[in-house]
Amino acid sequence: MADLEQKGMAQTLAIRLWNSRWLLAAGVVAVLIAFAFAGISAYALLPALLLLLAAAMLPAAGARQSTDSGAAIEAIGLQRLSGEYLAAAVADPLIIFDRTATIVHANAAAYAAFGGIAPGMSLSLKFRAPEMQALLDGVLSGDVASDVVDYTEKLPVERAYRVSASSVGHATDLYVLVFKDQSETRRIDRMRADFIANASHELRTPLASIAGFIETLRGPARNDPAARDRFLQIMESQTSRMARLIDDLLSLSRLEMKPYLKPGTEVDLRETLDSVIDSLGPLARENSVAIERDYADGPLDVPGDRDELFQVFENLLENACKYGQSGGRVVVSIAHGDAGSEPGIDVTITDFGPGIPEEHIPRITERFYRVDVETSRTQKGTGLGLSIVKHILTRHNARLSIKSEVGKGAAFSVHLPTH
Ligand code: ADP
Repeated sequence: MADLEQKGMAQTLAIRLWNSRWLLAAGVVAVLIAFAFAGISAYALLPALLLLLAAAMLPAAGARQSTDSGAAIEAIGLQRLSGEYLAAAVADPLIIFDRTATIVHANAAAYAAFGGIAPGMSLSLKFRAPEMQALLDGVLSGDVASDVVDYTEKLPVERAYRVSASSVGHATDLYVLVFKDQSETRRIDRMRADFIANASHELRTPLASIAGFIETLRGPARNDPAARDRFLQIMESQTSRMARLIDDLLSLSRLEMKPYLKPGTEVDLRETLDSVIDSLGPLARENSVAIERDYADGPLDVPGDRDELFQVFENLLENACKYGQSGGRVVVSIAHGDAGSEPGIDVTITDFGPGIPEEHIPRITERFYRVDVETSRTQKGTGLGLSIVKHILTRHNARLSIKSEVGKGAAFSVHLPTH
């Protein structure tokens, strides 16, 4: 042992000398020149050279101290660390087991996720799925040091996990299983796939109709000017339908790309709603709908983004004029609302049309969800309006509530917090 230590020290000294060789050479030359100029004999040079050599061999004090103390901190820290505390600190379910696949320890997350596990219980009995058996067999046989499988736990609620198994350290004869919950990622993946399928379908329908008319115009309707005019009109309305859809899709993706609102800007709701009403004047007239205002007195300002809130009220008022057309009037009200403890302002858009059956209300803000597909199509709807509304309101910490009585109308109410 002592021999080894001596050898190690000699090696370290040699490395230090080699590392500082240029510095050393420069020092020697400098000392020689200085003494030559001063006319001092070679013996007098000796102490200076020795001093230089000693300085080169001395380790960089700061560096050694920090490496040594780092190693000491690590060693002391790891000695204090218990496997149990480490397992408890891991947020994912974690199970430690031995070479007979018997549970040795499980952390709190594992107890919460899998009912009825306990130390001493056989893992092979608890997790009977073939993929879990294969995972356990693989690490226990020593064929692989670690492995990963996808596993779905059916009860109490279905959850998808990515499970990794590995041996712990050398010769401990212990192994560990860690369960990473993938359910949320899977749900988002599924939603994204559904969304793409829906969007493609929505675009494909007008596209197929345009392609059909092009074919007819080239063939049977080639010499029929009346039919040509009619078909071109339909094609025009189909292209604007596609353009509306693309605009809404871009709106949604822009909102998703900037999830946080720029703080510090105030929106005057009175002015914003007045301009929304102005901009929808032509549609209201076309549908013979009268828009009435019922605004509270005093300032009606809330923190938020003016363009985004404009889009919210424009969508809601447009829907009220389109779907609630039969009511003949729409009321836009702004009131001070103190829902619970949160002070804010409520903007409510009420129509007196056919209303929305109760069972549709919870799903109405989903992308592409429509109560009646045909009515939405004839009203030039994309099925994305209310999901854009919901997105913007979430960014504003605001709430949307929908009340409706079939045959009497619908009221869409937005509660915007004032701070
Ligand atoms: P769309 O582009 O189809 O209008 P929205 O997301 O704005 O899509 O609305 C979704 C669906 O909710 C509409 O298709 C319609 O069926 C229903 N809806 C929205 N507002 C009203 C309302 N004021 N009265 C009745 N139904 C409504």
